[in-house]
Amino acid sequence: MYRMTRSGLWMMVLLMTCLATLDSALAQDKYVYELDLNKVEKDQVQVSLSPPEGLPKKAVFVMPSVIPGSYSKKDYGRFINSFSPVDKKGKKLPFKVKGKNNFYIKKAHKLAKITYNVEDTWDHADKSQWVFQPGGSNIEADSNFVINHHAFFGYFEDKKMMPFELHFEKPAEMYGSCALEKKSISATKDIFYSENYVRLVDSPLMYCEPDTVSYMVNNTRAYFSVYSPQGLVSAETVAGFCQPIADALGNFFGTLPVDEYHFIFYFPGREQKPFVDPNAMAGFGALEHSYSSLYYLPEIPQAEFLRGMIQDVAAHEFLHILTPLNVHSEEIEDFDFRDPKMSQHLWMYEGITEYFAMLIQVRDGILSTEEFIEKLEQKIASANDFPDMSFTKMSKNIIQESMQDDYLNVYQKGALIGMGLDMVLMKESKGKYGTRELMMDLAAKYGPNKPFKDDELIDEIVEMTYPAVRDFFNKYVIGPDDLDYTALLKTVGWKFVDQAITQAYDYGSFRIGFNMETNRFVFDNVEDSTLDIKDEDEILAINGKELNMENVQELAGVFMDPQDDSELKLLINRDGKEMEVKGKPKQVTKEVTNAIVPIQEPNAEQQQYLKFWLTGKSE
Ligand SMILES: [Zn+2]
Repeated sequence: MYRMTRSGLWMMVLLMTCLATLDSALAQDKYVYELDLNKVEKDQVQVSLSPPEGLPKKAVFVMPSVIPGSYSKKDYGRFINSFSPVDKKGKKLPFKVKGKNNFYIKKAHKLAKITYNVEDTWDHADKSQWVFQPGGSNIEADSNFVINHHAFFGYFEDKKMMPFELHFEKPAEMYGSCALEKKSISATKDIFYSENYVRLVDSPLMYCEPDTVSYMVNNTRAYFSVYSPQGLVSAETVAGFCQPIADALGNFFGTLPVDEYHFIFYFPGREQKPFVDPNAMAGFGALEHSYSSLYYLPEIPQAEFLRGMIQDVAAHEFLHILTPLNVHSEEIEDFDFRDPKMSQHLWMYEGITEYFAMLIQVRDGILSTEEFIEKLEQKIASANDFPDMSFTKMSKNIIQESMQDDYLNVYQKGALIGMGLDMVLMKESKGKYGTRELMMDLAAKYGPNKPFKDDELIDEIVEMTYPAVRDFFNKYVIGPDDLDYTALLKTVGWKFVDQAITQAYDYGSFRIGFNMETNRFVFDNVEDSTLDIKDEDEILAINGKELNMENVQELAGVFMDPQDDSELKLLINRDGKEMEVKGKPKQVTKEVTNAIVPIQEPNAEQQQYLKFWLTGKSE
């Protein structure tokens, strides 16, 4: 017998409350996506979503229009079709698509599942809105999947900050590289976890046969994952190229702000359209994320050419950890995937990042001072090709179609703004404080979870530093003026020559191309050369040295920029016959533009500032 006492009754009420709580905890408060990579039909993968509970009667399922780090409308809703929301009994719920990305579902409180098919962006027929490959998706049955989550998965309006689970069925021989937490259930099943949609979009995933390497850089484990269809590039090679960059980054930051970082590389092969057709919309490059970066770079047979490219791009992407990850405005912190407001500070997010990508290399000896100067000269020349523009205005309006051409100047003038700011800060601080120190101070003040107010950043930088910094921003960042390279570079004893006539030597006019079929370099567009060469002659050796990808840069210098009039001997292949041709360069006058030249006798201050600039050390 059991007699319920008064306290027993309370007990029961309590128990019921507990049960109720337990029940709501069991209710799904997350998104669960399922997909099977073994089943690719018509270049599409089917996705199924068990939505979070508690949806309102009318709910909007959103695919992003714009994603962070890329500054144009992509409308990822274009890539999903056969959208089908159903209730518990499998009955279809009514819905309407508004615009390209918003699915308005009626009776959404009854929603039990959504299924739809996803097409990849890389070979999508609709080229009207091009998607930069590192921000897109790839479906190649049995060999490779590049999954930028925003191109596969959506969220419900007002519910983007709930957790996500991705359940993948996959071929046993494929491995998934991604910065998200991962549980491998079996050889053919993985689950990835993300605390919300923002983090999900921030963590691209690549499935393919594994080729991976990892190592420690200070306190951070760096992971490398490579897909190279012809097997021409390996993770070991890429990781090797990145090692000096990783060390330089370690020295630059001291303690790195993340515990792990994933470099994910896709190298499109020659047979892939973007590579053989230069007019195809091929977006070689990379996209940065907080804990990873995704690279889409040409699969080139020889290493030396790849090295410089990978080092420049990897340094840039990793440096984004500083900004925007650790220094960003409210617009980025609470990113609106449907209709984002843009920040005014692309000069910092992209410009400073690009500048630091060069600066860390010269500080760690990966670039010589001469190579660093060359890079600055190239930036100056490229920046001159753009119209004068206010960087804050361009940045604020970057999403508009008309601004898209100007955007690329963030890597040119943007980087030079970083250099100019360094000059002003060094001068004012007497060689003790520069752009690096400023960015570190901003990162300490803000960090990953504390955004700054977009309108106040420049005032704040002026307050943290010197009044002269305001003039700099007014003229060159808010204002449209070209940087005054002469005045700025004088700080470190360098002279800027925008135009000069000098004496030089020249073998005439021709181009050097590369024949992918024979793996040899060839002459092209030969005009008036002092060498007895013709179009399509293959170059086998220069001055007795066999020419290949490894030494082409060094040996081509002999052609392009002869230092004296000594004779050049070439071994060439003309119509299947090997022959030697000789010739001397003629003396010509050349116009030099946008040159940076160290002055002969810099004063003590200039020497001290230059040392601080190129080494980061003040004494
Ligand atoms: Zn960037």
